[in-house]
Amino acid sequence: MIDFNANYSMTINGEAATTDNTLPVYNPATKETIAQVPDCSKEQLDRAIHCAGQAFNSWGQRPVSERQALVLALADKLEAHAEEMMALLTREQGKPRAGAEWEVFGSVTWLREIATQSLEDEVIEDTDTHKVVTQFTPVGVVGAIVPWNFPILLAIWKIAPALISGCTIVLKPSPYTPLCDLKLVELARDIFPAGVFSCVSGGDELGRWMSAHPGINKIAFTGSTATGRHVMRSAAETIKRVTLELGGNDPAIVLPDVDPKAIAPQLFWAAFQNNAQFCNATKRIYIHESIYDAVRDALVEFIKNEVKTGNGAESDTTLGPIQNAMQYGKVKDFFKDCQDNGYTFAIGGQIDEQAEGWFVPVTLVDNPPEDSRIVQEEPFGPILPLLKWSDEQDVIARANDTIYGLGSSVWGKDLEAVQRIGNQLQSGKVWLNEIHHYSPHIAFGGHKQSGLGCENSLHGLMEYTNWRTVTLNKKAVL
Ligand code: NAD
Repeated sequence: MIDFNANYSMTINGEAATTDNTLPVYNPATKETIAQVPDCSKEQLDRAIHCAGQAFNSWGQRPVSERQALVLALADKLEAHAEEMMALLTREQGKPRAGAEWEVFGSVTWLREIATQSLEDEVIEDTDTHKVVTQFTPVGVVGAIVPWNFPILLAIWKIAPALISGCTIVLKPSPYTPLCDLKLVELARDIFPAGVFSCVSGGDELGRWMSAHPGINKIAFTGSTATGRHVMRSAAETIKRVTLELGGNDPAIVLPDVDPKAIAPQLFWAAFQNNAQFCNATKRIYIHESIYDAVRDALVEFIKNEVKTGNGAESDTTLGPIQNAMQYGKVKDFFKDCQDNGYTFAIGGQIDEQAEGWFVPVTLVDNPPEDSRIVQEEPFGPILPLLKWSDEQDVIARANDTIYGLGSSVWGKDLEAVQRIGNQLQSGKVWLNEIHHYSPHIAFGGHKQSGLGCENSLHGLMEYTNWRTVTLNKKAVL
């Protein structure tokens, strides 16, 4: 029996691994230390990578159907332990039950759906003289580095395609949220052959060792754009493959023909899902000036009447805390910048620093300047600028005027206008009259400095492979 509330160990070569040095993990709703986890040494990482390399020799050769079957077994086991996992996720990450359910059952679905995928050989030519076939061979050992906002799901987005394609994997969770991932890999210990699926916990240094390690063939990374640049730089040394899923500053454009009351809840969730600690959260809303006041007021009403920020373990909580002290400090800085510049808050604006946890009130900034920090940067917390627009080409230019290009959305009854605007937005996802529609079969990736490559879909699976083109000359005179 696995105890989800204690005994957090790494998994190296299919076995538990601990360390003398440990790192504390906190409950962000109470700031209490809830666990200590191993701080992986360089020698332990070397061993995990060496064992992954050894295991790759046979794992990569197994028929894909066998690998699919074991990934399905992991899905079943995760589902069987969903209750313990959801409770642990709320304790370490802070998200309320609804978000924990979405993440844990979403992870089960992702494992099952990715396990239906495989890459067939492409027969390019089959003539009297030649047979040319392109095969998709696994890249080898994958290092997966994940953040703290969706610690399980974003790990699964890497684990499932890596294992299905025939790679072995060493997972490194965020130091802020290692608990669920350590337990996930503990669940997998008796499913996969030793060395196929390891997990190491530690700080940012551990991530740096991984992205520079010659034994790793690919880094699958989700995190900030700043860290993504470091990963890409150190991966260059050994020409590692990289998939980078990075930051965003997603715009939403609201047309003049919407009903303010009907759209307010949709815009709220677009921006504040997961307490706005969400790469694809709407981070600036451009509202047509003719309905700006009405939409702003409807959002304020919705927040006043429907939203409670609190401990995710309490059943009436809508939004949890900020996940960690570092992020809390960053979010506080955005509040201060707005206050120092005299911007108006439509709601919120004051953080209670005496609160039990790292809580921040839902805050709307009322039409700040376009060049303000709150519009230009990614706060990754529940403070959202509302902006006015009047000219279509101007609002499209403002929406695109960013180093990011992760997602965007357009909302309006005039479907022709909605599509016309959507087709001009520079981002990996453009949602029209809805948002956050994800699937294991839909490619997910960013434009510009929001990322490189993609996850999910056959395109995402392909990112764990090399092309091997085999050319046979059938008529060679030898
Ligand atoms: P982060 O970049 O600080 O950390 C992410 C991971 O990288 C952690 O595991 C961390 O320990 C590790 N790390 C830190 N420094 C490293 C280095 N030099 N080399 C290698 N690894 C290193 O990001 P975060 O604060 O955990 O997450 C928030 C950010 O992630 C936001 O910018 C958000 O937009 C982004 N994000 C993007 C996506 C996406 O799919 N595009 C999804 C979720 C979050």
